[in-house]
Amino acid sequence: MDDCIFCRIARGEIPARKAYEDEEILAFHDIRPLTPAHILVIPKRHVPSLAECTVEDAGVLGRMMVLLPKLARENGCDQGFRTIINTGPVGLQEVYHLHIHILGGPDPLPPMLKR
Ligand code: 5GP
Ligand code: ZN
Repeated sequence: MDDCIFCRIARGEIPARKAYEDEEILAFHDIRPLTPAHILVIPKRHVPSLAECTVEDAGVLGRMMVLLPKLARENGCDQGFRTIINTGPVGLQEVYHLHIHILGGPDPLPPMLKR
């Protein structure tokens, strides 16, 4: 996945403000934050989207999920946060390397979707 932007961030070829890193997971601050805290959590292994995940990805997906509250707390989301995984054209996914958004800050977020 030579030209995937998140693979390039994971390889250190494009700079990003890192929030967490281990052998298989990287978290970094979104370049265009929508909320005071806006972090992206990715598997280092290239998976285009949640739609391509299989049971083999269950382990890393679970480890990403349990990281979220700790990362949120460390970044100013003391009273909760929102997670979003945009998937495919209907989900308006922009970057086709699976990522979980953490969104939050000190104040409540707007409703999830407008009616
Ligand atoms: P999506 O719409 O695919 O769920 O979200 C992609 C997110 O990646 C967007 O919020 C966008 O701001 C962020 N993003 C795109 N390119 C870069 C980049 O080069 N660096 C960082 N840190 N975030 C990026
Ligand atoms: Zn990738």
